[in-house]
Amino acid sequence: MTTHSSVPPMRLDPFDYEARPVRVVFGPGRITEVAAEADRLGLHRVMLIADSRAPGGDALVTALGERLALRWDEIAQHVPIDLAERARKTAAADGVDGLVSLGGGSATGLAKAIALDTGLPIVAVPTTYAGSELTTVYGMTGKQRKRTGTDERVRPAIVIYDPELTLGLPPEVTGPSAFNAMAHCFAALWSPKRDPLTSALAIEALRSVAASLPALVEDPADVQARAGLQYAAFLAGTALGRAGTGLQHKICHELGGQLNLPHADTHAVVLPHVVALNATDGPDWAARLEPFLGSDPARGLWELARRCGLSTDLARLGARREHLPAVAEAAAGAVNPVPVDAPTIEALLGRALGDEPP
Ligand code: NAD
Repeated sequence: MTTHSSVPPMRLDPFDYEARPVRVVFGPGRITEVAAEADRLGLHRVMLIADSRAPGGDALVTALGERLALRWDEIAQHVPIDLAERARKTAAADGVDGLVSLGGGSATGLAKAIALDTGLPIVAVPTTYAGSELTTVYGMTGKQRKRTGTDERVRPAIVIYDPELTLGLPPEVTGPSAFNAMAHCFAALWSPKRDPLTSALAIEALRSVAASLPALVEDPADVQARAGLQYAAFLAGTALGRAGTGLQHKICHELGGQLNLPHADTHAVVLPHVVALNATDGPDWAARLEPFLGSDPARGLWELARRCGLSTDLARLGARREHLPAVAEAAAGAVNPVPVDAPTIEALLGRALGDEPP
């Protein structure tokens, strides 16, 4: 057999594979199919959790018709516990039998918080690239700490990806959110629970972001590029849901929980530095990324971020040097191919705070 010399070799480790049920509906304009999807689940009294900044709330109200019991539009990032409790009480008082969420990870997260206690099924309509719609992970925040956990009950039963809902996503959300999806990809590539499918999904998702994100700097309403990012979010979220997270996510969860920094923006700043840290791991993932991130993927990510106008400076997000020890201490011990201690993480965050290249 002859092989093409430019195709990098691939290491195949032993693996377990288990498929999880989820129905995904993908394509421009498909938000209008929400009623048929609700009917598949036998829903009669739906609670619509809709981020008012995302388009599509009124279209969902119309499409759901008499299935709609109530519309909830109070959403907050990192799901404050008191907000989750009020939303749960309202759902119970109204006797709802299912949830439709519209928005980014914050709207999906609120639906998950309700489902965690009630077991209500979720139809998720994501409008960012956070990927929460494909995982069993939930998170809630109280008293400066973010509590996360996993539970099958919070995994949405159906996900509708309609790229038209993302045409107006502002650049300051688009870029960081795409980096959030890329962070899921690296978590999947490095995870001890990875398998060849999660790695293939992650590589294809990274390729799709690298192909789509720069096009949106030129034309934010390029529907093909928007579809490319949602496709990447779908693949990245699927990989994340199977392979789980590690150090990169732990750092960002701590930056979010302790300092209330915006989740996706922290991924964009931190990811190149964690990729650089893991470059010494020496597996084949870097070679597989070379066609679209270059021979130094950490540098490739950092340059992609800057080319797309993203901040690469943790200080600009609101972090200060005195915040770093507590974040590093909390993140130490997280899953990572290269073992790291708190001083190493603090030094990594220090470089991000000084806007140094990875
Ligand atoms: P987000 O949901 O807070 O949205 C970011 C901003 O974009 C908000 O201001 C929102 O109103 C606005 N927005 C959303 N869609 C829009 C649209 N189409 N047009 C215009 N504006 C729009 O942020 P996010 O980054 O999507 O999600 C972050 C949250 O999700 C964090 O709390 C994070 O921890 C969580 N998360 C959870 C998982 C999981 O698996 N559980 C995975 C990823 C992220």
